[in-house]
Amino acid sequence: MATCVAVSSFLLTATLAWSQSVPGSLDVHWNEGAPDCRATPQEPLQIHQYEPQTFILRQSPCADFEANFIYLLIGSNKALLIDTGAVADPKAMPLAKTIFELLPDKDGKKLPLLVAHTHRHLDHRAGDPQFASLQSVQVVPFDLEGVRAFFGFANWPNGMAHLDLGDRTVDVIPTPGHNPTHVAFYDGRTGILFSGDFLLPGRLLIDDAAAYRESALRVIDFLKTRPLTHILGGHIELNGAGRAYRFGSQYHPNEHRLELARADLTALPAAFESFNGFYARYPNYILTNPTRNLVALAIIAVAVLIFIVWGVRRLLRSRRRARAKL
Ligand SMILES: [Zn+2]
Ligand SMILES: [Zn+2]
Repeated sequence: MATCVAVSSFLLTATLAWSQSVPGSLDVHWNEGAPDCRATPQEPLQIHQYEPQTFILRQSPCADFEANFIYLLIGSNKALLIDTGAVADPKAMPLAKTIFELLPDKDGKKLPLLVAHTHRHLDHRAGDPQFASLQSVQVVPFDLEGVRAFFGFANWPNGMAHLDLGDRTVDVIPTPGHNPTHVAFYDGRTGILFSGDFLLPGRLLIDDAAAYRESALRVIDFLKTRPLTHILGGHIELNGAGRAYRFGSQYHPNEHRLELARADLTALPAAFESFNGFYARYPNYILTNPTRNLVALAIIAVAVLIFIVWGVRRLLRSRRRARAKL
């Protein structure tokens, strides 16, 4: 009986927790760029309101091929901006201006803003200078020491940090592997995991495979007892059939959906265990180690070169011998 009560109260708590996520909409067609961007002028930023306090911004593939997704989370005391994208120039990409227009007022002033990054790669922080001199804006440093100190990680990459935005808590989970500074953000309001380049419908570029796998296990463990509505990453690099666009392409016809699900995350550790170290394709992402692939290419190129030189020398030698016989 006691077990029965415990089980039913657990189920009730779990159901309540699941139903507590504020619903939102991802019914949107993201800007897919163009085959000829110069001939097709486009808005640099697309804004989608997921729910009244959560905005998804997409940089046009024509503004930069990285076409980053940027997220604005609004609490009652503070707002959080996750990443500042790939374009620095405010004329080409008026990010700060756009964000300020979206920020609500509180006590006659704009809500204070915290600007944080999923990781230090330039396409996730190029817009930082637009926020540098603005009042009531705080920008989290992007280097590892700065990230650890700001969030108070004493035992990186273990532990986690919590950001209190006012009636909205965001958990910060270390996720190194793609980059040593990588973190993921879990929003308790919407149940969304903002995963940056750690998990996205595209190339998961591996810097440290062991750290990456550990990060996946850490996030899986964290989410075991929490609702997860969507996993939203920093880019879309695949089409609907799971094929990657050419690197650098500014045209993404028939894009894969932005959102990934829990199953994509839980499949990651096994994907790393069977990874050949170079390249592996899954329905919703590709595992690849760019450094290893480059080294392998370089080795192949050198081998081909040696073979050509050897062949030419052999040919010249046999011609010389043939001439000597004459
Ligand atoms: Zn990156
Ligand atoms: Zn990126």
